[in-house]
Amino acid sequence: MLSRSLRPIRIIKALILLCAVLQANIGWGSETPKNLKCEVAIIGGGPGGLYSAYRLGPKLDKRVCVFERENHLGGRLYDEPLVPGGPVHGVGGLRVMEGQDLVFALANELGITLEPGPYVDDMISTRGVFAFDTETLRKEVYPLVSESEAALYNKLQFGPERANVASYPDYRSYVRSVVGEEQYFFLRDILRFRGDYTYPLDARGYLDWLDEETNVCCTGYFPVGGMSQFPLRMADRARQNGVRIFTSEPAISINGRGGHYFITTPTYRVKATRLIIAADPTGFKAVTGNIARRIQAQAQFQHLTGVKVATVTQWFPRSWWNNLVEGRDVHRAWTTEACLNAIEIPKDKYDADQLVVRTVYSDDRDCVDFWEITARENGIEAVEAEINRGLKYLFPKADIPKPLKTVVQIWPAGWYFLGAGSDFTNASIAAWAVRPLPGEAVSLVGDAYHPQRATWSDGAYKSAINALNASYGFDIKYTRSGMSSGPTIKASRLNSLPARH
Ligand SMILES: Cc1cc2nc3c(=O)[nH]c(=O)nc-3n(C[C@H](O)[C@H](O)[C@H](O)COP(=O)(O)OP(=O)(O)OC[C@H]3O[C@@H](n4cnc5c(N)ncnc54)[C@H](O)[C@@H]3O)c2cc1C
Repeated sequence: MLSRSLRPIRIIKALILLCAVLQANIGWGSETPKNLKCEVAIIGGGPGGLYSAYRLGPKLDKRVCVFERENHLGGRLYDEPLVPGGPVHGVGGLRVMEGQDLVFALANELGITLEPGPYVDDMISTRGVFAFDTETLRKEVYPLVSESEAALYNKLQFGPERANVASYPDYRSYVRSVVGEEQYFFLRDILRFRGDYTYPLDARGYLDWLDEETNVCCTGYFPVGGMSQFPLRMADRARQNGVRIFTSEPAISINGRGGHYFITTPTYRVKATRLIIAADPTGFKAVTGNIARRIQAQAQFQHLTGVKVATVTQWFPRSWWNNLVEGRDVHRAWTTEACLNAIEIPKDKYDADQLVVRTVYSDDRDCVDFWEITARENGIEAVEAEINRGLKYLFPKADIPKPLKTVVQIWPAGWYFLGAGSDFTNASIAAWAVRPLPGEAVSLVGDAYHPQRATWSDGAYKSAINALNASYGFDIKYTRSGMSSGPTIKASRLNSLPARH
């Protein structure tokens, strides 16, 4: 037995051993941050950050650095395979719409093939009735509503009350007041995106956005290799030009001093001359330091409202979706009656060949929480059982096999709109983001900072272009419809209702 006097030595030895073990296994205590100098530091390796890096690469080569929080690039353009190395399907963004010229041009530049997946046979179910068009639902389910969906949107967008839109507390109250209570429920129930009615969104911002959205018609196009092809190929091109891209390196703090910016990440202490913050607001909120805090304190930043979104993606051993209803194929369906909310069966060849289906697509607050809690507390089997129940409700005759794989993805903020009570317009937020701190070489980049194109990656690219044009000597042009505070689209365009993904 050891004497008492020897015990402290044993304890110290044990502590040294423990430190060595922790150091070897998890890197604990091993590092003092490495110093790194970059002329431009880009925080966030999503579409906005990587577009910036891709364009800056040829000008500034290795003087550009990108720091991404996750162990992969792409942000909300993220795809999953059934098996490692196999074809992939999006658990975030899926498509490019016909009117998105900028994204088509980018696909061309990056060598990305886009396959069409035209929208036909969309089925809607509300209050227990199923239909392939909103007029049938209006007549059968909402008999008090005497005008069509298109006519109601026409009133919202082009009626006289639009001139007073800024005086409404939020979009919901504007709709209720302009078209009436039952019409409100009709429009809400037939829309796939229930978040538009469950979050308090700024009425003026939403309508400005809708002006442009109605221009984004008509056919969806799907990239071979998934939407992640955009960020991944931009990252490859940027690297070829020398840009340094670091993954698993979240910005923890951003400080400014003496005309320089200091970013700390788990591994690096970065000194930069210019800064592009391309982290989405939800990620950026966690960053400390005087520069980060000054931006977060501004009203413009605080009015950006994130909408929580759930997707569930399932691969099946065989297709079960031919002649689903009355001898018709159904490729998209949405319902108020089940938390699936919306499902989507791919039509483009690349995705259709995978026998994959997005069986849940929801931005309804309660339903997103439901999927999150079910997956966490009860596991994937419970999620699969609940999805099967919802699919049986939509397609009672379908013989649905057990899926081979189910991926539940919760996006804490799938997209951002301008929140209610804001004094800002979409255009003024985009202008602010170019230089949120006067006198500082700092830009905010991302779809959130360009609410006019909320919900689409082209918003992230347009935001990056604004920053590059204003502060980096570029002159990149893009079509900018609906950026004024008033209606810019003629009523005759309303044959095409909001496209939306
Ligand atoms: C379910 C869903 C469906 C969608 N469908 C479509 C669609 O069909 N078509 C379409 O065009 N768009 C679609 N979108 C929108 C599209 O995904 C976004 O517009 C786009 O990803 C925005 O790019 P971003 O660079 O602004 O932000 P993000 O994609 O969010 O990228 C921001 C990056 O910053 C990183 N980050 C955050 N904090 C930090 C930090 N502290 N340090 C370092 N890095 C940080 C994040 O990890 C992320 O990689 C969809 C989105 C969702 C959620």
